[in-house]
Amino acid sequence: MLQFDKLSLNIPDTTKPRVVIIGGGFGGMNLVKSLKDRGVQIVLFDKQNYNGFWPLLYQVATAGLEADAIAEPFRKMFDDQTDFHYRMVRVNKIDPATNTVTTLIGDLHYDYLIIATGSKSNFFGNEQIQKYSFPLKTIPEALNVRSQFLQCFEQASVTTDPAERQSLLTFVVAGAGPTGVEMAGSLAEMRKHVLPNDYPGLDFSQMQIYVVEGLGKVLPPMSEEAGQKAQRYLEDLGVIIKLNTLVESYDGETVTFKGGEQIRTQTLVWGAGVTGALIEGIPAESIEKGRILVDPINRVQGLTDVFAIGDIAFMKLEKYPKGHPGVAQPAIQQGVHLAKNIRRLMKNEPTEPFEYFDKGSLAIVGRSRAVADLPGNIHLGGFIAWMSWLFVHIWYLVGFRSKLIVFSNWIYRLFTYQRGTRIIIRPFVRKDDKVGQEILMKNEMS
Ligand SMILES: Cc1cc2nc3c(=O)[nH]c(=O)nc-3n(C[C@H](O)[C@H](O)[C@H](O)COP(=O)(O)OP(=O)(O)OC[C@H]3O[C@@H](n4cnc5c(N)ncnc54)[C@H](O)[C@@H]3O)c2cc1C
Repeated sequence: MLQFDKLSLNIPDTTKPRVVIIGGGFGGMNLVKSLKDRGVQIVLFDKQNYNGFWPLLYQVATAGLEADAIAEPFRKMFDDQTDFHYRMVRVNKIDPATNTVTTLIGDLHYDYLIIATGSKSNFFGNEQIQKYSFPLKTIPEALNVRSQFLQCFEQASVTTDPAERQSLLTFVVAGAGPTGVEMAGSLAEMRKHVLPNDYPGLDFSQMQIYVVEGLGKVLPPMSEEAGQKAQRYLEDLGVIIKLNTLVESYDGETVTFKGGEQIRTQTLVWGAGVTGALIEGIPAESIEKGRILVDPINRVQGLTDVFAIGDIAFMKLEKYPKGHPGVAQPAIQQGVHLAKNIRRLMKNEPTEPFEYFDKGSLAIVGRSRAVADLPGNIHLGGFIAWMSWLFVHIWYLVGFRSKLIVFSNWIYRLFTYQRGTRIIIRPFVRKDDKVGQEILMKNEMS
């Protein structure tokens, strides 16, 4: 058994400047790589031991990919870097006055601190939605969603109550951003090509998939053209889209929308908003709308040696008054750029402001259709956009093994319509679901 008083961060003392990075996501990972062999000691803290490729998380949730195809362990990723130290631990607090970070198992002094903690699901203070809905931000959450989907079909096959069956076969996705669209499209493809074969006793004309969006269009961050195309593709797949509709409450059985309309469902997937994953110790005046205000070199406003990159950073510029979009490219580019500026700072050279190069946005709808907004006001749809989506995602996936798995999996699926991972490894049962807990316990008794 581990004892807290016997744990320590165990980071070697150094005469080099120590760069401490909190979070090894798109931003943190690129910063670590770009600081390789640059005369600094790098310490990476992340509460999970892998870098996740979140654009493909919906594939894990919809039984399209195994989790290890979209994640790369840090220890493997950086095994060629010297004086690099990874610790799997959450950072609880920073103290800019003493240049210290505090973790569960000890404190560490830094010369440069980079906060790259990304974002977390935003339930807008609604504890009931937080308790009963299924967020989709991490791999364990995606596995919960996968188990829930498959359990719903299993339970629908055995219930004798028609109303219960309908509620088990009804899926509501809140948020018509890329994640919501991709989830709904995937589920609709499964309904068409996979599930009737798996569950011949179920009538899948009863299965309903809703996408609910508070704003007036599908894919709000993308162009009007992309939104309209995505909406059409989803509707072709039989997805019911409700725009200008806000979820007001969800008790695990019924979603209630503002205005009073209700839908009975056992599954509400929550993709309706994110907020910055803040850490205690950041001055209140450096935080706006849940993100950390940074200057054009990503330095936290009001602090000297503390920087923030990626989703958590709010760089207010004339061109981006609401900050950069919360997608992978700003995080990647800021990570690479900040590494250059840290080297300049170490040499007392002038720093250079960050400039975002917008490479465009993509979203996939179902097995072979996608939409793309590319630089130069170019909008693509259908199979060409799907090919671009495939190429971009394979390109940015970390590790040859993952690239190979994902590519072969998609080609296989394109021709066979199959999804290989319809396995309930860890059944999902809510903590307060007494009947569910009892069934699970009795089922697992040897
Ligand atoms: C489901 C989903 C789909 C997406 N699809 C797309 C897409 O198609 N295209 C696109 O461009 N973007 C997409 N995004 C957004 C994109 O993934 C983010 O913009 C990007 O990950 C931001 O990078 P980051 O480095 O800021 O944070 P992240 O990549 O989220 O990394 C943050 C890291 O910090 C760690 N961490 C957080 N708090 C702490 C703490 N206190 N202590 C220690 N570690 C901590 C986390 O474990 C995590 O590893 C998607 C996001 C999600 C969730």
